[in-house]
Amino acid sequence: MSALLEVEGIDVWYGNAQALRGVSLCVDTGELVALLGPNGAGKTTTLRAVAGLVPARAGRVLFDGQVITGLAPHELVRRGLAFVPEGRDLFPSLTVEENLRYGYWTRRRLGRSGYRVRLEQMYAWFPVLGSLRDRTAATLSGGEQQMLAMARALMPSPRLLVVDELSLGLAPLVVEQLFGILRTVNDGGTAVLVVEQFVALALANTSRAYLLAKGSVQVERPSRELLDDPRLVASYLGDAAAAGLGTVLPAAPLPPVAEPPEPEPGPPGPAPRPLRRSSARPRSTPA
Ligand code: ATP
Repeated sequence: MSALLEVEGIDVWYGNAQALRGVSLCVDTGELVALLGPNGAGKTTTLRAVAGLVPARAGRVLFDGQVITGLAPHELVRRGLAFVPEGRDLFPSLTVEENLRYGYWTRRRLGRSGYRVRLEQMYAWFPVLGSLRDRTAATLSGGEQQMLAMARALMPSPRLLVVDELSLGLAPLVVEQLFGILRTVNDGGTAVLVVEQFVALALANTSRAYLLAKGSVQVERPSRELLDDPRLVASYLGDAAAAGLGTVLPAAPLPPVAEPPEPEPGPPGPAPRPLRRSSARPRSTPA
């Protein structure tokens, strides 16, 4: 496998506080990788730097061999890097289908039939969204909103899906289901980099993991090895995070996609303000 995403020694500062110190990681084509760490470790900042939402003061990020540091988020989406932010950023007053239509805008030159193919792919991966297609995003449950955010990011057929805080505010059962979907998406060839607080579930559903603490990568291992080493995981993430290791089975993948029906019109008019959710968890300061 070849490297799709390469993060090389990035430093990120917020004012005069350093959040990331020489963070390096990579995701190969088709890989499913977890980024784990305690609160305030710098996970979100790492993903935001990858997605072009915060500047790196040192280091660089490459996607498919090209330097992408400093590129605008929409340019990254156009190149095949999709980001699901912690707050989900849905359009609350738009329906499920309208939100999905916005996700497709970078590929609109592929036309209506391409749009319809992706839409039906999303309804196959996320059947609940098909039954809710005319409901506004604001009326969905937290789990349904996370599915919609993931589906919207997947609409333009990204090569890499980056998901921050998959489980934010969600029940473990829903998180298991979301991991099942991520695995199915990954089986289809999309690489995934996911930040997740349910450590055992994250390790059971990924091939490799990075443990981040105090703004630096501390450990990079195959997920299976970390699942079998609760003491190592506990030393970085705490006893609670390591407690469930070895007891979680991989989530079952969903069935493959159905054939697409008739074409549909392109994206709707101007976008309203996105709906944001914020984490209630306290933040800590890096050392
Ligand atoms: P969590 O799991 O709590 O979301 P995290 O590992 O994602 O944590 P980050 O959110 O990346 O960590 O935060 C890393 C550090 O940067 C923390 O000390 C945090 O307080 C700080 N930080 C994050 N965002 C900002 C900001 N907008 N302004 C100032 N400091 C920030």
